Amino acid sequence: MNLDEFKSEVNKLGVPVTEKEINLLEKYYNLLIEYNEKINLTAITEKKDVYLKHFYDSLTLVKAIDFAKIESMCDIGTGAGFPGIVIKIFYPNIKLTLVDALNKRINFLKEVVFELGLNDVNLVHARAEDYAKDNREMFDLVTARAVAKLSILMEYSMPMVKINKFFVAMKGQDDISVSNRVLDVLSSKLEKVICFELPKEAGIRNLVLIKRVGDISLKYPRKYSDMKKKPL
Ligand code: SAM
Repeated sequence: MNLDEFKSEVNKLGVPVTEKEINLLEKYYNLLIEYNEKINLTAITEKKDVYLKHFYDSLTLVKAIDFAKIESMCDIGTGAGFPGIVIKIFYPNIKLTLVDALNKRINFLKEVVFELGLNDVNLVHARAEDYAKDNREMFDLVTARAVAKLSILMEYSMPMVKINKFFVAMKGQDDISVSNRVLDVLSSKLEKVICFELPKEAGIRNLVLIKRVGDISLKYPRKYSDMKKKPL
């Protein structure tokens, strides 16, 4: 998708695009390509593909979430910053936390935050399940794109979400159903699954929107090995 197509598709999502956001995205793209030569950040490098499959795809979160109502957001397993950095570019007032288990990706994000002049971004090198232990009920919104199986993602994420606030898993075509048992154990409610196709027939996407509705036992999230051995 070229820049004009990007602007037009983003407008269709109901998100205004000005030169300010485009300039920041261009800088972000250049840094992504520069650092991708030294550290593995993404297999998608053609500009038109990055704009469609990373930038536009990240913004599709607006189909599930009204960002005017979000003060704090945590993106777990953010990698090169998707969807977190793109959301921050369009909604600069959000207090953003980005968590990734790989320090080289966090170091890349430090550079992005500095070069783009983004404020209120907390970069955390940690496993999400460890970070969640000390950051319970901290966020209006937790997101994850392409990080782990949905039940594991929920165990990482729901304890961090404030009561009556949301987690969104950004998924492809698979792994979009969640059992009542998982929802019960994590005091959560499946609000909806929003299915759509990316422009240019670039694939089916699903946004799984889950609301936290009550307290969650302090034993969650468990250690990763326990989650694997004994899935919820
Ligand atoms: N969200 C980004 C995207 O959609 O482009 C990155 C996806 S990448 C496939 C998965 C990322 O999740 C990697 O950067 C990896 O280090 C991170 N990750 C996997 N498990 C994690 C965990 N338990 N805690 C924190 N980060 C994790």
